[in-house]
Amino acid sequence: MFFHKRNSANAGQRLWPVFVLLIAVAALPACGVLWFMNQAMRNEELAAEQRLREIYASQIQAAARGIDDAWRGKLTFPVPEMEARASETFAAIVKNGHADAALFFSRGILIYPELAAAPASAAEFDSPLWREARDQEYIWNNPGAAAAAYARIAEIAGTRESAMALMAEARCLNKAGRPEDAIEMIIREFSGDGNNSNNRYKNALDLERRIVRANALMFALDLMAQPGHPLFQKTAETLAECLNDYAAPAMPSGQRRFLMRRLQTIWPECPPFPTRDAEELAAPFNEISLGELLSPGQMRATNVSDTWAYLTPDRAMIALFSHNHIMAFMNDVLARQEAIPGVHFSVTPPGAGEAGGSSAFSTGEIGNLFPSWKISLVLAGTDPFRSAAGQRIALYMWSGVLLTCGVVALSVLLAAWLRRQVRLTRMKNDLIAIVSHELKTPLASMRLLVDTLRDGRCNDARLVEEYTGLMAKENARLSRLIEDFLTFSRMERKGAKFERALLRPREIVEAALEVVSDRLRAPGCELEVNIAPEIPDIIGDRDALVTALVNLLDNAIKYSGDIKKIQASCFAADGRVCFEVRDNGIGFPRRAAKKIFDRFYQVDRSLSRHAGGCGLGLSIVKFIITEHGGEVSAQSRPGQGKGSVFTLRLPIFD
Ligand code: ADP
Repeated sequence: MFFHKRNSANAGQRLWPVFVLLIAVAALPACGVLWFMNQAMRNEELAAEQRLREIYASQIQAAARGIDDAWRGKLTFPVPEMEARASETFAAIVKNGHADAALFFSRGILIYPELAAAPASAAEFDSPLWREARDQEYIWNNPGAAAAAYARIAEIAGTRESAMALMAEARCLNKAGRPEDAIEMIIREFSGDGNNSNNRYKNALDLERRIVRANALMFALDLMAQPGHPLFQKTAETLAECLNDYAAPAMPSGQRRFLMRRLQTIWPECPPFPTRDAEELAAPFNEISLGELLSPGQMRATNVSDTWAYLTPDRAMIALFSHNHIMAFMNDVLARQEAIPGVHFSVTPPGAGEAGGSSAFSTGEIGNLFPSWKISLVLAGTDPFRSAAGQRIALYMWSGVLLTCGVVALSVLLAAWLRRQVRLTRMKNDLIAIVSHELKTPLASMRLLVDTLRDGRCNDARLVEEYTGLMAKENARLSRLIEDFLTFSRMERKGAKFERALLRPREIVEAALEVVSDRLRAPGCELEVNIAPEIPDIIGDRDALVTALVNLLDNAIKYSGDIKKIQASCFAADGRVCFEVRDNGIGFPRRAAKKIFDRFYQVDRSLSRHAGGCGLGLSIVKFIITEHGGEVSAQSRPGQGKGSVFTLRLPIFD
C-alpha cells in the first residue's frame, strides 16, 4: 500500500483561485500601466507635433523674411544717371552678379540692349566723291581705283565719314587682291589703343550705329585667315578689349554679340567675355514686350524658359535672372538660417507641384517679392515629431517597464511566499495526522502493558521481563519517532545550521556503527565493514553526517529478515567520497527508488510501521547530504533477500 498525499491534493485544488487572483493582481496594474503609457505616448507625440509646428511656423516666417530682405538688398540697383550710362550699368550689374542680365528703359523705351537702330541719314554719302568711288567699285568693277577713291575721301572727310571710307577702302583692297595692304591700313588706322584719345576713329559709328573700328578689326582678322599671322594676336586682343568696353557710346548689342561669337570662333585662346551670357540672355527681350507681363517690384516668370524678370518700381530697369541663379541665391540665404535638426528648407516656384514634395510638413509664402513662391520645411529622414517626443516617451516607457517589473517581482515574491505557506500548512497537516497516528500505537501498547503489570495479573517473572522488554522497545521506538520529527521540523524551518569542519570519513563510519552497535551485535546479524585505506578528507557537520549514515544502517537493519547481512563501505570514486550501506533485506520496486527520499513516503506502510518508521528517515538523509553539496542514490530489486544499496556521495576537500 502506498502512502497517498491526500491533504496536498485537496490543498492544491483549493489553491487555484488564489493563484488566479494573484495573476489578476499582477496583470491588472501591468495592463493599466501599459494602457496609460500608450495614451501618454500618443499625447506626447501630439503635443510635440503641435509644439514643433508652432516653432516651425515661426522658423518659416523668419526664413521667408530672410529671403525677402536678402532679395530686396540684391534688387537695389544703381540707376543709370543718364541714358548714355545704361550700357556701363548693364556691365557692372552683370559683372558683380547682381543679376544675370538687365534691360534699361527711358520713358518706357528700351535703351539698352537697344532695339535695332534706324539707319542714319545717308545724305552725306551722296557726294560726287562717294558716287565716283561706288561706281568704280560696283559699276566699273575696278576695286583698285575704288580703293584709291575711298582713300581720297578718308583724307578730307570728317571722322565718321572718313572711318566708313577707310572701311570701304579695305574692302576694295581685298577685292583687288591686296589683302596685306588692307590689313596694314586697318592696323595703322584703327588698332590704336582704345584708351588713346588720339585714336581718331575710336567712337566712329556707321549708318546702323555700329562701331566702325570693331568691324574693321574683325575684317582684318578675317583677312589674316589664321591665328599664325604675326599681327593676329595683337589685333584680336585689341578687338576683345573693344568688345569688353561698355563706355558710351555703347556698341549695339547685336554687333557686340556677333563679334564676340565670331572672335571666339576664330581665336581659340580668346578669354571668356564676362558679359556674353548676359547679352545672349537679354537678346530675346529686344523683341518681347515685357510691359504686360510684369508688375513693378515683383519677380515674374517670362516667356523665355527658366528666365525670371524683375521690374524696378521706377520702371527704369528690368533685371533678368536664370532659374538657377534664383535658386542658388535662395539656398544661400537659407543656409545662413538657424539649422533645425531633422528638417531643411525647400523653396518651390509657382507651378512646380506640391511645395517641398510629399515630405513637406509645414509650408508658407515667401512674400510679395516672389508671388506664389512657397517655402516649406521638409523632413530630412527621421520623423522630428517622434524624435522630439522620443525622450519623454523613453521616460514613460522606462517608468512603465520598471513599474511592471516591480509588480511582477512582487507577485513572484508573493507567490513564493504563498507556496511556502501552503507547503508548511500541508506539512503541518501531514505531520499532525502522522504524529497522532504514529505516536498513538506505541503509547497504546505501553499503556496496555503497564495496565497488565499494575493489575498484578502477571506473576510470572519471565512474562514480566518480556513485558518490560516490550515496553522498552516501544519506548525506544517512540523516542526515535520523536527524534525524527524534531530533526525534520528543524530542517523544514531551515533551522538546521551545519558546521563546516574538516572530517575524516573513516571516523564518521565508525561513529555511526557505534550508535547502532547494539542492534548489529544481535543474533543473526552479520556486519562487514570496508573502509578504503586512503580516503581524502571532507568538510561538513560531523553529527549530521553520522545521523545520515545511522539512518541508512537503521533502515538496513529494519528492512532485512532474520538473517541480516549488512555491509558498510567507504571509498573515493569520481572525485567524491562515497558511503555505501548494502543489505540483503526486502528491497523495493524500481519505481519506488525515485520517491523513497520524499518525506512520509513508505513503500509498504504497514510493514514500515511494524518496523517502527514514519517515512522521514531518508528525507532527512537527503536533506543533510544535499546541504553538504553531495548526492544520494538508492538501488534495489523487490523480494526477500534481494537487498538494497544506498550510496551517499560527498565532495572531497581540496
Ligand atoms: P521509515 O521511517 O519508514 O523507515 P525512511 O524514510 O527511512 O522511513 O524510509 C522510507 C521507506 O523506504 C521505508 O518506509 C521503506 O519502505 C523504504 N526503505 C528504506 N530503507 C530500505 C531498505 N534498506 N530496504 C528496503 N526498503 C527500504
